[in-house]
Amino acid sequence: MMRLDKYLSNHGGLSRTEARIAIRSSIVTINGEIIKSASQKVSPDDAIFILNKEITLTTDTYLAFHKPEGVICSNEDEEHETVIDLLADYDNLDLKIAGRLDKDTTGLVLLSTDGKWVHRVTSPNYKSSKKYLIHTADAIDPALVDLFKNGIMLKDSPKLTHPATLTILSEKSATLELTEGRYHQVKRMFGASGNKVLELHRSHVGGIDLSGIEKGKYRQLTEAEVSLFDNKNAG
Ligand code: URA
Repeated sequence: MMRLDKYLSNHGGLSRTEARIAIRSSIVTINGEIIKSASQKVSPDDAIFILNKEITLTTDTYLAFHKPEGVICSNEDEEHETVIDLLADYDNLDLKIAGRLDKDTTGLVLLSTDGKWVHRVTSPNYKSSKKYLIHTADAIDPALVDLFKNGIMLKDSPKLTHPATLTILSEKSATLELTEGRYHQVKRMFGASGNKVLELHRSHVGGIDLSGIEKGKYRQLTEAEVSLFDNKNAG
């Protein structure tokens, strides 16, 4: 047996706060009866609905999070705040991070309880695109546009990088679109050309962007956004 608010946030794709609001708004029923108490105990045999959507044990959670600088993309860290610490509403869920960012990188991080979906977002085989905004220490050499398009060799790596699209915005800023996610890839690509990335921000993963999400905040993905990473739609 589990508390109703915990059940809804574990399996209904809601945060604990959102679950309590739904219960208070009289839109949650158990076996056909409106329930207004968040501490009501439920079992998987109960028919639990939010409006007309049944919440079963298999309902997964999908989140877009705007990572601030200084936060670590890992489930636990003794010294630093982690993205999971900042998603305290979901601390009872086994959220997996779909593509990590460095501590000093800001921007979009996708998370889900659905391991297969996370694999599709991150696996190089599905080639989902990731778009970054970059500020560099020195002027960006326009020759990098073709170099990155054709692929470059990174130190300690035997394979060329996949074709990437560099768009120069100003002397020291650009966007870069990649379809792979090697360790420190953006910094290493610029490093290979003798330049240094000073600021890095991920604005998009596939068709999902950060619009409407303030730094340190998150939102649930819509069903349409989740299905962007279906096998047939990946890319
Ligand atoms: N590439 C990097 O170098 N760092 C990131 O955080 C993401 C991509």
